[in-house]
Amino acid sequence: MTARPDRIAADIDALAALTDPDRPWTRRAFTPRFLDGRKYIAEAMAAAGLATRIDAAGNLIGRRPGRRPGKVLAVGSHSDTVPDGGRFDGIAGVVAGLEIARVFNETGLVLDHDFEVIDCLSEEVSIFGVSCVGSRAIAGVLPADWLGRAADGLTLADGIEGVGGDPARLIKAKRTDIAAFLELHIEQGPVLEAGRRDVGVVTAISGITRVEIVVEGRADHAGTTPMTARADALVAAADLVLGIRALALARSRGPAHFAATVGEFSILPGAANVVPSSARLLIDARAEKRPDMDAFLVDLNGLSAEVAARHGVAATPRLVSDNQPTPGDPRLLEALEAAADAVGASHRRMASGAGHDAAFFAKVAPAAMVFVPCRDGRSHSPDEWAEAAAIARGADVLIETIRRLDRRQDTE
Ligand SMILES: [Zn+2]
Repeated sequence: MTARPDRIAADIDALAALTDPDRPWTRRAFTPRFLDGRKYIAEAMAAAGLATRIDAAGNLIGRRPGRRPGKVLAVGSHSDTVPDGGRFDGIAGVVAGLEIARVFNETGLVLDHDFEVIDCLSEEVSIFGVSCVGSRAIAGVLPADWLGRAADGLTLADGIEGVGGDPARLIKAKRTDIAAFLELHIEQGPVLEAGRRDVGVVTAISGITRVEIVVEGRADHAGTTPMTARADALVAAADLVLGIRALALARSRGPAHFAATVGEFSILPGAANVVPSSARLLIDARAEKRPDMDAFLVDLNGLSAEVAARHGVAATPRLVSDNQPTPGDPRLLEALEAAADAVGASHRRMASGAGHDAAFFAKVAPAAMVFVPCRDGRSHSPDEWAEAAAIARGADVLIETIRRLDRRQDTE
C-alpha cells in the first residue's frame, strides 16, 4: 500500500499549468485561476472515491466514509499560492492527500474513521490582507469583522461566497469531529536535504511576535551640526538592527528554533542634508519555545534602552502582535515516527519557522505536520522544487500513520 510518484507528479504538473500565464506560478485565492485549480482537485477527489463538498468557509473537503462514522482522520493543506510562488508550497500536501485517497480506494481499505482530504481556503495572504482564512474558520477563530475587509470592490464575505462558501453561516465550518489532522508540507528550508532525511516530524510551529520600535532623535543641519552634537535616529537604529541580529544569533544556537528579522525599516525626513530625526523598524521574531521569546523581549528592552542612552535618542519597543508557538500533538508525533520506521523512511524532529494551517486545526483537534525535503530550501519562489518521490515518501508515512491511528481506541 504505497503512494505512486508518477501520479503525484501528474497532479503537480496539472495544477502548475493552472497559473497566471505571465507570472508562473501564481494561483492566488479567490481568483478565477484558483477556481480552475479547485475544479481539478474536486474532480480528482471524486475520481479517488471521495464525496466532495465546500464548507461554509470555502474549504474544499473530500470524504471517504468509515465503518463507524463520526470521527474524522483528516489530511490536507492549501492549493493557493503567493504571487510568483512555487508549485509545491501547500500543493504537495493536497496532492499527497489525493494520492492517499486513491491508494485507499484501489486497495478497498475501509477505515473505522471517516477519512478526509481538506484543501484549506487562502492559507496565503490574499488581496484581503489576511491568511489562513479556511483553517481559522475550522478552528472557529476567524474574526467576524474580517468578513467586511474589502479589496477590488469585493469583501472577504463576497470572496468566500465566490468559491462556494456561505459566509452568513461561517460558524458551521467549525469542526469538533476531527480525531487527528495531519499536514504534509515541503520544508521550505535546507535541513532535510542537507541531512539526507526523508521526512521531518514537526515538533512545533513557531510562534510569531512582531515588535515595532520608533527611534526618535532630532533633525539638524547635516552640514553645520558637529558630529558630537547629534541625536541621529538612523545611526541609533542601525545599532539596534545589528544588536537584534546578535541577540537572535546567540539564541538560535540553542536547541530550539529561533529567528528574528528586521524586515521593515524607514527614516524621516529622508533628505540628504538633514540629520535623520526618526527611524521606524519592525521586527519579526519566531520561537519554537515560548520562554525563548520571553527572554528575547526582555533582552530587546535592555538593548533599546542601552542604544537610546548611548545615542541620546528615545527608543521604546511596542508589541504589534504576539502568537504562541503551536506544539505538534505528542501522540501524533510518536505515531508519525513509528510509521516512518515501519515504512523505512528516515526521519528527524524539527520545528517549523513558517506558519501553517495545522496551527489552527490544533485549536480544535490533535494536529501534527510532516515535512518533506525541497531543493536548496527554496520556497515562495518560482525556483521551488520537490521531487515527486519525496512527496510520495511522505504520503507513505501518512498512510501508515492513518492506519495505525484508525486502530487506536484513543482516537475515537
Ligand atoms: Zn504553505
